[in-house]
Amino acid sequence: MPMPFSSPDDVRPEVAAFEPYEPGLSIEDIRRRYHLERVIKMASNENPLGVSPVVRAALERGAASVFRYPQAGNPRLVEALAARLGVEPARIFVGNGSDEVIDLLFRVRAVPGEHNAVAFRPCFGLYVTQARLAGVELRRAPLNDDFSFNFDGLLERVDANTTLVFITSPDNPSGRLAPARELLRVARALPPACLLVVDEAYIDFAGMDDADEKESLLRHLDKTPNLALLRTFSKVYGLAGLRVGYGILPPRLAEYMWRVRLPFSVNLLAEQAAIAALGDESFHSLTRRVTAEGRAVLSEGLRALGCAVLPSHANFLMFAPPKAGPDARALHQALLERGVIVRGLGGYHLPDWLRVSVGTDDENRCFLAACADILRPCSLRR
Ligand SMILES: *Cc1c(COP(=O)(O)O)cnc(C)c1O
Repeated sequence: MPMPFSSPDDVRPEVAAFEPYEPGLSIEDIRRRYHLERVIKMASNENPLGVSPVVRAALERGAASVFRYPQAGNPRLVEALAARLGVEPARIFVGNGSDEVIDLLFRVRAVPGEHNAVAFRPCFGLYVTQARLAGVELRRAPLNDDFSFNFDGLLERVDANTTLVFITSPDNPSGRLAPARELLRVARALPPACLLVVDEAYIDFAGMDDADEKESLLRHLDKTPNLALLRTFSKVYGLAGLRVGYGILPPRLAEYMWRVRLPFSVNLLAEQAAIAALGDESFHSLTRRVTAEGRAVLSEGLRALGCAVLPSHANFLMFAPPKAGPDARALHQALLERGVIVRGLGGYHLPDWLRVSVGTDDENRCFLAACADILRPCSLRR
């Protein structure tokens, strides 16, 4: 039934129901609020090594060209990705962060009010907001109590009108990795017209010794027609501020996605930086090594303080403070006062948990020292 508008600032009901996005606290906010010299941010899963020098040089070279439009369709980046991943270029779709790919998947794959999508609870916030904006019902299957995946629960929510299923692996915020075998079982159990979207934003951090290659579904695309993968340059490549992500999609779907995408959504510098990043093997492997080492240090350090720590395959850890002592909210606040920003998980409806991104060796040490200071007040009295 059409809803009559009565004023020039009326909006679609999906829009009227939107909560404003709550941005994380910035380093500058915290520095000013608590009069601190140094503030470290371990809240957004950014690359602790910063920008690769190879990318920085490409950005400097590219600066002189920004009066030009980028090439529509970003063909050089598509070619570079296809070569790097060993997939057909026709499968590659790039967007302004994987956020844009997620947004377009809802708008391209789901008829509002008719089709539905399925994801876990909790899940990455963008699946929820972009489904809502598209007017598409998002059905949620709870994760198990230990945050492991309940694939049968997910499949129970799928019906003949489900056209998208989202799984994040390694998952955010838990860090858990879904075995490739299980993901393939889900793909095969779905109705053939339903696309399984596996968000592999953190797959590069999944183990060392190329274990990630074993659990990524990259090698299974040809045998699994209803499978799509999402990846991003924001994490392992350190380009969060430039906004580049991509999907590896069934080729015909990729073609439709290109047709509807805003022609220049991936800007010229972002494209050049992403191409340079793909060629910088040493920054990629250094990031993976530093992350794996830092993750082990943080995990052991937090456990030694009595925290519950989930096993993580990503560049962050989800943890809860010991029952006796300050709760997660108090710990979060006390860390801020000591100049350490971590992520509270209230937005994921997990108020008892926090998420910390792996930092540099020095940041990890500072974080653990601050935690010890807060959780073990007796150690101060020596
Ligand atoms: C960080 C993240 C992304 C990447 O988003 P971009 O828009 O590419 O920066 C995608 N999915 C998940 C689950 C993430 O945590």
